[in-house]
Amino acid sequence: MSTDNIIDGKAFAADLRGRIAASVLDFVAHSGRKPGLAVVLVGDDPASQVYVGSKKKATIEAGMASFEYRLPEDTAQADLIALVERLNADEQVDGILVQLPLPSHMDDKAVIAELDPAKDVDGFHVVNAGRLAVGEDAFVPCTPLGCLMLLKDRLGDLSGKNAVVIGRSNIVGKPMAQLLLAENCTVTIAHSRTQDLADVVRRADIIVAAVGRAEMVKGDWIKDGAVVIDVGINRLAPAEGETKGRLVGDVAFAEAAVHSAAITPVPGGVGPMTIACLLRNTLVAAYRRADLPRPK
Ligand code: NDP
Repeated sequence: MSTDNIIDGKAFAADLRGRIAASVLDFVAHSGRKPGLAVVLVGDDPASQVYVGSKKKATIEAGMASFEYRLPEDTAQADLIALVERLNADEQVDGILVQLPLPSHMDDKAVIAELDPAKDVDGFHVVNAGRLAVGEDAFVPCTPLGCLMLLKDRLGDLSGKNAVVIGRSNIVGKPMAQLLLAENCTVTIAHSRTQDLADVVRRADIIVAAVGRAEMVKGDWIKDGAVVIDVGINRLAPAEGETKGRLVGDVAFAEAAVHSAAITPVPGGVGPMTIACLLRNTLVAAYRRADLPRPK
């Protein structure tokens, strides 16, 4: 298989992180301090621990200040909210990320609602979701923002393209659809109740799959020349002789690659863009809070 049509998200994200690091140096020169990202983790969910560790490493590598808060599983919601309020008021903190999901005795939405929207670098606060919906400047959730960057890099102007987003979660599907609409795509949002999904997907010039079902989107669903962005991260059962199963996306990659003009692999596609966009949002938050012109 030729690799010309594979979108290298890892390389794109590395380049973006390099540009962010350069802008961080400018920010430090102008403001005398580093942009700061606070990450709050409650409990000891192993996947969340890995995500938080990667975010900290990337933040420090970009030259930013990383503030990490690890709270025990049985933390009271009121205590978590008290920490969020302290971080809202902390001048050194430009971005706050509360790692989700929170333990079951907490209400994710109630906690996110306490974030200062100006520091909500995950873009999950309803004020940012609303701003995105009405076309105002907003913090956009990192994963769909990364997908849009990859699409624009490949296609340039997206105007008039038929885009199908599979999945309607608040963190991926819905904001992805809003971003594509803002780029003048004709957008269809598909979900678990969509009828004849294959037929819907066959009409698309752009497909973004954000479902969480291994290799659900088949090669013969893809129109020749379409661009496919695969957000899904699914671990297959281990094959014989393997200790861990392979990671795959929501798209049957090898089949889909035959038809698509460009496609993201899993891993190495959308995943690396998510953290790079978190750094980008933190940098933008820092520039705004310091009243400096926004970096490119
Ligand atoms: P959610 O579970 O919140 O949403 C999944 C969506 O898929 C829902 O809207 C659901 O529809 C839809 N869906 C489920 N089954 C079907 C089906 N058979 N046909 C069509 N649509 C279906 O997931 P997320 O949005 O949080 O994440 C989606 C995937 O992306 C996951 O694999 C996740 O791991 C991955 N992910 C990757 C990230 C990265 O950095 N690369 C970041 C975030 C997520 P309905 O609303 O009707 O239930």
